[in-house]
Amino acid sequence: MNRYPFAVEPGKPYVQQVGEWVADVFYDALPEAGFEVRDEQIYMAFQLEKAFADKRTIFAEAGVGTGKTLAYLLYAVSYARYHRKPAIIACADESLIEQLVKPEGDIAKLTKHLGLSIDARLAKSQDRYLCLNKLDRARTEYEDPELYRELYEQLPAFVHKSEGMQSFHAYGDRKMYPHLNDRQWDKVNWDPFQDCFVCDKRHRCGQTLSREFYRQSADLIICSHDFYMEHIWTYEGRRREGQLPLLPEHCAVVFDEGHLLESAAQKALTYRIKHESFEQLVTRLLKNDIREILAVLIDEAIDRSEELFVLLDRHSRVVPGSDRREVRLNGELYGAVARLRGTLDAIEEELVFESELYTLDGYQLRIVEEHLEMMQKALGLFQSSGSLICWATDSPTGLTLVIMPKAVKEVLREGVFSRSMPIVFSSATLSVNGSFDYLADTLGIDRYLSFSVASPYEYAGRMEALCPLREGESGFSGKLKAAARMLLRTGGRALMLFPSREELAEFQAAVSGCEELSHLDFVFEGEGEISRLIAEFEANETMVLCAVTLWEGLDVPGPSLSNVIVWSLPFPPNDPVFAAKRLDAASPYHEVDLPYMLLRLKQGIGRLIRSRDDSGLVACVASELQENPELTELVSGLLPEGVELRFG
Ligand code: SF4
Repeated sequence: MNRYPFAVEPGKPYVQQVGEWVADVFYDALPEAGFEVRDEQIYMAFQLEKAFADKRTIFAEAGVGTGKTLAYLLYAVSYARYHRKPAIIACADESLIEQLVKPEGDIAKLTKHLGLSIDARLAKSQDRYLCLNKLDRARTEYEDPELYRELYEQLPAFVHKSEGMQSFHAYGDRKMYPHLNDRQWDKVNWDPFQDCFVCDKRHRCGQTLSREFYRQSADLIICSHDFYMEHIWTYEGRRREGQLPLLPEHCAVVFDEGHLLESAAQKALTYRIKHESFEQLVTRLLKNDIREILAVLIDEAIDRSEELFVLLDRHSRVVPGSDRREVRLNGELYGAVARLRGTLDAIEEELVFESELYTLDGYQLRIVEEHLEMMQKALGLFQSSGSLICWATDSPTGLTLVIMPKAVKEVLREGVFSRSMPIVFSSATLSVNGSFDYLADTLGIDRYLSFSVASPYEYAGRMEALCPLREGESGFSGKLKAAARMLLRTGGRALMLFPSREELAEFQAAVSGCEELSHLDFVFEGEGEISRLIAEFEANETMVLCAVTLWEGLDVPGPSLSNVIVWSLPFPPNDPVFAAKRLDAASPYHEVDLPYMLLRLKQGIGRLIRSRDDSGLVACVASELQENPELTELVSGLLPEGVELRFG
């Protein structure tokens, strides 16, 4: 069987032949199958050929409806087959990776119309999988024991028995439990404090088994930006521990919605330290026949860690609207960090002696050394307060200290962009005032190719943009009335976008008592697994989908999405990450808050027109638009040509 999607001519550059095949697909095969092929798409395909031929990074900025996904998929699959290594497609969010493989998605289209069978497998984040240890606890400890007992009973038989490896298969994916809401799921999914390295269930755990499955993909592995960044960040550490990296060797990467990569990189490059986990880890060493000096140091380190977390509790405060606690760095905290670091240094030295005595199991020793090294790196960032962003999060088992380096570009330059490999950034919004330098600079990209193509759609006459608040309508009740009018106007069929979970929850509580909307079906993000909620929304034409994370990437053409209602302007949250960015800016509002809000809003507006036949309205019920002419002008500037913002 020919592994290539076309007959390859020996002696002719392969990527050139891919380019010719892609041209045939766009000029002949797809039009014959009834597809409308656009000049912008063909232009994009030719630009991608250069990036793949020369193994370069390319910024591919293409408006809605350019068909950019089909173009990059054709190159990625052909390239993967040539190199016998999969290409990675990294999507902005975990909820979006299912969109590519859905039955009417772009991969299925290529299979159907070109007869191209594509091996595409999903690499989901660890927290999308059930943790057997947490499930055991949930069955006995939490308020819904029946629910968790049922999950336990549905586990594959091999989880409980000692059967041969060949009968194992991946299971425990979040998608298998659509009936669990996010709060219920959080009680049983993997979290960063699960110590999988030393877990005796790891060979029967769905999370580890899923890795073995996607690693075997011949063509594409689809993951989120976060997951790809975690792969980069943990690559060396995992190899040192004798573990496989999260992703296998690959030949190319596509960052879909690539403008969001910086925040994913920052998120992945975070360190998490928790007193309880540290104590459990080092206490295990005490069970071995170790020297007294090490045992004393371990006790001292536990005391120092406890002291640090007591101070952290005292010097951090809850930030309204965020689940992160702001940490007020001061001399007391710096002192506690320095003391803990000093004791960790001494433990690390003693472990070197201990390893020579062979009193500790080699594997266990490596795990502890890795953990201590991670803590040293993280706490070392406190030496220069300008180089870190930190915050604390609460949980029933105590505070977690989260530490993030401010600049991620060195890690990205070294781990990603210095490699000789085609890397495609694909998005409708990559440039600022026509230049890609801002993005390139924040990501550590020194050389790149780029191009921009506009959306081929006609917006004038198809899209209406409104600020529907009337005279005297203000506050929550005013917004609710205006939103209700808009929902009634389109008979549901709406995506409502909220900037925070708190605002969504407030609306959810109010709408249940709203008589005039009682005939409409609402579905709220967090009520179930997100791709199931999206599928429900697509299938039930008049449904209203209320979401916090779907400002980007949601692609629902047709009448189900005829109305995008923006509940509040999506300014960034008041959390430590943005607080740090604001501190570094000369004009925080204009340099941090406003650009973030405008980019997000533009993406949200972009959810409405997803095909040439789509039409509908975008309504923003934020009162700032009535009160602030500067803001109104900026928001009007986001609208496609021929569309004007109207009031009332
Ligand atoms: S391997 Fe990790 S996720 Fe799986 S059961 Fe063990 S601790 Fe939980």
